Amino acid sequence: MIKYQSIYRKWRPQFFEDIVGQKHITQTLKNAIKLNRISHAYLFSGPRGVGKTTTARILAKALNCQKGPTEYPCNQCAQCIRINQGQSMDVLEIDGASNRGIDEIRELRSKIGFAPAEGKYKIYIIDEVHMLTNEAFNALLKTLEEPPSQVLFIFATTAPQKVPKTILSRCQCFYFRRLSREEMVDKLTKIATEEKLNIDLTSLQLIAESATGSMRDAESILDQVVTYSEKQVTSEVVREILGLIPQEIFWQLLKAIIIGDTKTGLEIINQLVKEGVDFHKFVQDLIVYTHHVSLLKILGKDNSAAIFYRSGEEPEKLSELSNSTNIKTILDIIEELKLVEEKIRYYYYPWVLLELMVVKLTQSKEQSYQKESKIVNELVSDIQKTSLVEQSIGIGEIREDHLSKNSKNSKNKVLSRNKEPKQDQFEQLWSKVLARVKKERISLYTFLMASNSVLIEDDQLMVGFPPDCLFHKESLEKRVNRDIVEAILKDEANCEIKLKCFIVEDKTKKDEDFKSGKKKDKIEDNKVIIQLGAEQENQISNKGESNLSSKNILEKALDLFGGTIFEEKKE
Ligand SMILES: [Zn+2]
Repeated sequence: MIKYQSIYRKWRPQFFEDIVGQKHITQTLKNAIKLNRISHAYLFSGPRGVGKTTTARILAKALNCQKGPTEYPCNQCAQCIRINQGQSMDVLEIDGASNRGIDEIRELRSKIGFAPAEGKYKIYIIDEVHMLTNEAFNALLKTLEEPPSQVLFIFATTAPQKVPKTILSRCQCFYFRRLSREEMVDKLTKIATEEKLNIDLTSLQLIAESATGSMRDAESILDQVVTYSEKQVTSEVVREILGLIPQEIFWQLLKAIIIGDTKTGLEIINQLVKEGVDFHKFVQDLIVYTHHVSLLKILGKDNSAAIFYRSGEEPEKLSELSNSTNIKTILDIIEELKLVEEKIRYYYYPWVLLELMVVKLTQSKEQSYQKESKIVNELVSDIQKTSLVEQSIGIGEIREDHLSKNSKNSKNKVLSRNKEPKQDQFEQLWSKVLARVKKERISLYTFLMASNSVLIEDDQLMVGFPPDCLFHKESLEKRVNRDIVEAILKDEANCEIKLKCFIVEDKTKKDEDFKSGKKKDKIEDNKVIIQLGAEQENQISNKGESNLSSKNILEKALDLFGGTIFEEKKE
C-alpha cells in the first residue's frame, strides 16, 4: 500500500534552487557557504508559508551533508536523509510557541557545549522564536554572546518586531517576501503537470490568488480540491471549496447597474445578505472585476491577454459587459464603488451602502436620454395633451431637445400646485434639515436619502420609501432616530413636527392605474407629489428661476408619469 503524501510534503524544496521567490536570500546563503562565511545566528522573518523553515533545513543539510559544506546538498547521504526525516541528532527543530520558557532554553544551553554527534555543525532551528519569554530570551542571549564555534542558530518568525533588539543585533537577518501570484501559478502548474492532475489554469490562478502569497497554503488548497473532485477540477469547484463568490454574481450585478435595472441589482444584494457575504471583501472584489472591464475597454480584447491570465475570469463575459457600455460609465461605477469601499467596514448594515449606490447609479441611468428617448416621445405628446399638467407646472411649451442633456434630477421634493408659495419655504427647510442630519448622524442621512418622496402636511413630515427600502424606513422610525430628526425639525421650523414614514405603493400598479384613467381624476382634484432624483441637495441649493426651466419641469413630468402620484388626504 502506498502511503499518501501531501503535495506540500512531496514538493517541499530540497535545494536552494527549488525555493520560489526568495532568490535574494538563497543566493546570499550559497555564497556564504562557498566563501566559508557562515554566521552563528540567522533570523528568517516573513509571512507564513513562504519558505523560512524549508530554507533553514536546506541550510542545515548544506552544512552537514557528508559532501559538505556545499551549496548543493546531496539529499542521499545519511546526514541529509536524517535531516529530511527530522531525525538528525545534530539538527534540532524547536517550536518556540510550545517551548517558550526558561527551562527549555536552559536545557538547550546545557547540551550546547557538546560537539556535534556526526555532522560538522550543531544546528538549532527555533520556529516562531518571538514566542519565547523574556527570561528565555535572556538565557539565549548569553549563548549568542559567546557562541561555541560549531553551533549555528536559525530563528524563524512571522513577527520579528516582537524579537528583542539585543537578539536581532546578533543575527544576520533575512526577510522572506510574499510570493507573487505569477510565481505561485508557475509552481502550481509545474506540480499539476508532473502529478498529472486534471485541473485547468483558471483553477490554479484562483488557488494562487486565494493563498495570498503563501506557497504552503496554495499547495494545501491544491491538495484539497484535487481530493474533493475526483475527475476534472473546474473553477466552479475551486470557488465552492474556497467559499469565493462566483464570477457570475459580479457579472450580473455589474450588468444590472450598466443597464439601469434597479430591481435586479437590489435582488442580487438581498441574496448576498442572506448568504452572509462579507460585503467589504465583496466590494473590493467587485472593484477589481469592474477594473478588468475598464482595462478591456481601453486595451481592446487582443491586448488584454494579461488581464485574463491574472484574473482567472472568462474573457467572453467581460467582453460582453465591456461592449455594452462606455468607458465613462465604467469609471463612474468604479468611483462610486471606491466611495462605498472606504465607508463600508464602519457600517453595521454594510449592504445598505451598496444598495444606495445601486439605486443611485441605476436611477441616473434610467434618466439617460438614450434609453428613454422612445418613452420621452410618447410622453411629450401625452403632456401636450394634458393641459392639467401644463398648468400645474406652469408651462405650455415643452420641447424634446431639452431632454437630450443628461439630467441631474432630484427626488424627495414636493411640487404642489395648490401650495406654490409654501413649496419654496418647504424646500429651504428640507435642505437645512438634511444638511444638519448629515452632519449629526450620517446613517440617518443615508436612510433619508433612500426615500422617494417627502411632504410636509400640517405638523407632520411624511417620508415615503419604495418597497425595497423597508429597512431604511424601519431604521428611521426607531425611537432614537426619530427623536434626532424631530429635534432638528423643531429647531429649524420653530414648531413641533412629527416624523411619519410610509412605504410607497408599487410603481407598476400606479402606471396601470394611470393608464386606466384612475389617476388622472385624482390629479385633477388634488395636489401632486413628484418623485425626484438623488441630487436633491444640489437642486435645492440651486433653486430659483432655473428650477422652473422647461427642462426641469419636463423631467419632473417624466417622473410624474413613470413614478409616483399622490393624493392628498382630506381630513
Ligand atoms: Zn548529503
